[in-house]
Amino acid sequence: MLRASLAVPSAGAQWSGITTRIAERLLETGAVDAVLTMAPDPDDSWRPMPVLVTEASGMAQCRGMRMGYAPLLALVEPARAQGFKRLAVIGIPCQVYALRALEKSLGFERLFVIGTPCSDNTTTERFHQFLELISEQPDDITYLEFRADYHVEIRYKDGRKKAVPFLMLPLSKLPNDFFPLTCRTCVDYTNVLADITVGYMGGEGEQWLIVRNERGAELLSLLGNEIRTQVPGSKGKRFGPVKGFLANVERAAGGLPLRKMPQWLRPIVGWLMPKIGPRGLEFARARVEMKAVESIVHLRREKPGRMKNMVPEHVWKLAEPYGLKPTAEERK
Ligand SMILES: Cc1cc2nc3c(=O)[nH]c(=O)nc-3n(C[C@H](O)[C@H](O)[C@H](O)COP(=O)(O)OP(=O)(O)OC[C@H]3O[C@@H](n4cnc5c(N)ncnc54)[C@H](O)[C@@H]3O)c2cc1C
Repeated sequence: MLRASLAVPSAGAQWSGITTRIAERLLETGAVDAVLTMAPDPDDSWRPMPVLVTEASGMAQCRGMRMGYAPLLALVEPARAQGFKRLAVIGIPCQVYALRALEKSLGFERLFVIGTPCSDNTTTERFHQFLELISEQPDDITYLEFRADYHVEIRYKDGRKKAVPFLMLPLSKLPNDFFPLTCRTCVDYTNVLADITVGYMGGEGEQWLIVRNERGAELLSLLGNEIRTQVPGSKGKRFGPVKGFLANVERAAGGLPLRKMPQWLRPIVGWLMPKIGPRGLEFARARVEMKAVESIVHLRREKPGRMKNMVPEHVWKLAEPYGLKPTAEERK
């Protein structure tokens, strides 16, 4: 694992642009025939639209995060039909799972998988509702990120930037099914089947890389000295925040109102969290454990019969310190 940034950030990237720069390098060096990824839909820049990019210059339009589902793998067979034999795919965990399941039958000579983490996704329509809740000018928002310092960063068309503490977000106004059950019960936040995962959770304001295998190392080496890397830091303690999160998820899943912090205390705690809360790798671990306990609580309530097939052993281990243990029927 590394903390990393491009020395010269790419314009329009979500963070410094490591993801799309790796893809550009693959195309520049002729290592792949095409890159399968998402571009903005021409009618709605927040809607991800799958594209096959064959020129390095074509990656610039793909930079940035667009929240929403899109059928990335619908273009895998067209890629084969066009005669592409070496492909790179940029995807979130659920897309990468499907890709790995199909990989052998697709018969590519080389397949590079650049993954990003994903905590939750929803439809683009629902994401627009969220933008309307957090801003008076939702149509002018060009960028949004849930940063690791407990703030949402919003950028506007006219260059304005705003950082809103998570605690000040109107999250309780979102419908319970804002994030669908598939995301609320996803046990792969960090994209384990990618060759390299490019995120930000453990990066303390920079990016966070997990180089997972030799192909991942090959992808990172394409960046040479364009990338600066360091050992990731780790501060704070995750147990309390994860336990508090679990208590709230249990209340919400049981239809009870969330335990809300008084309005006057929110700005103070919002200011304090980045200073005393878990940071760096401890923040990444906190989020992974939050996802683990969230998956168990929601699945137990909504699809108990699926528990034994959907909750892997390592997720039970992550949840155990918080008092969640499998029953005999829940274990495979
Ligand atoms: C729905 C979603 C949730 C995420 N949640 C987290 C998180 O919780 N923690 C974390 O560390 N990182 C998360 N990420 C990843 C993060 O937003 C950055 O994309 C990542 O850190 C790479 O930054 P970059 O500057 O290298 O990306 P860039 O160089 O700007 O490239 C971003 C790449 O992501 C692709 N992309 C954009 N939207 C989608 C989409 N909807 N589906 C698939 N691919 C898409 C683009 O096509 C592009 O190839 C999430 C990404 C998405 C799409």
